[in-house]
Amino acid sequence: IAQLLDGKALAQRMQAELAEQVKALQKQHGRAPGLAVLMVGDNPASAAYVRNKERACQTVGIVSFGTHFPAETTQAELEQTIWNLNHDDRVDGILVQLPLPDHLDSVALLNQIHPDKDADGLHPTNLGRLVRGEPGLRSCTPAGVMRLLAEYKIDVSGRQAVVVGRSILVGKPIAMLLLEADATVTIAHSRSPDLSALTCRADILIAAVGRQNLITAEMVKPGSVVVDVGINRVTDGTGKSRLVGDVDFSAVQPIAAYLTPVPGGVGAMTVTMLLHNTVWSYSQKF
Ligand code: NAD
Repeated sequence: IAQLLDGKALAQRMQAELAEQVKALQKQHGRAPGLAVLMVGDNPASAAYVRNKERACQTVGIVSFGTHFPAETTQAELEQTIWNLNHDDRVDGILVQLPLPDHLDSVALLNQIHPDKDADGLHPTNLGRLVRGEPGLRSCTPAGVMRLLAEYKIDVSGRQAVVVGRSILVGKPIAMLLLEADATVTIAHSRSPDLSALTCRADILIAAVGRQNLITAEMVKPGSVVVDVGINRVTDGTGKSRLVGDVDFSAVQPIAAYLTPVPGGVGAMTVTMLLHNTVWSYSQKF
């Protein structure tokens, strides 16, 4: 039966360490690291994510500069705000909560963020640094996956890794990080025929699609490491809703050697990596 990769426990330990680090940095340099979170409109899911991020900042002593804009805010106003934050010395990380309302161009806006304050690691410069293997800000969920594997001393080098999903946010950067760690990496996606033939070869299988039960027991190599990045909200028979991943958890658990739960696996790591990135950006300045 698979050992669970406990992202929640690791995230808590990391936050305690970050809190100590922030205290020491503040003493040394006279200010705490700062993170600005921009939210536009009132998408309830986004609002919940933003509240989570602000609460996490508070836990470790990072100053959060939350800015909440009405849905009708213009591109120019937001670009001006980003410009101001780029030039504000108290701000080490800037994050735009996606999705933005339809009239706004999120790619153009994200490209305005100074790469050294790009706490989400999605700026072309940081994705370029990732591809080149240079130091830089790494996107939070992919970095959280690697941190979780490292915590359990799971050796990636020379092993077959299969990443299902190829988004800029998750699939592609995870594949690059695994490659950087010397795995042999296959990226599968919606146009890959015979997904099962690919996943069955995986020593390390990463599911990042957003489809419940996409990964069944027959698709998993016995003794492998299965990381479930998917987050799907499902309603059970009684009308209660809960979160599940992309992996058929109860069927895969007896087969895999390691498995991440949903919730409490990868998702728990993402916000902590955002805090880590903010502290990293800050420490690069000194
Ligand atoms: P996305 O919709 O941008 O990308 C989904 C990817 O899955 C695409 O590349 C597509 O090619 C692939 N895909 C779709 N159907 C497929 C199929 N049948 N077989 C194989 N591949 C298929 O989504 P995303 O932003 O990459 O997010 C993926 C999942 O991860 C979602 O459930 C999302 O909620 C979750 N997520 C979790 C975290 C976290 O912190 N744990 C962070 C971001 C996203």
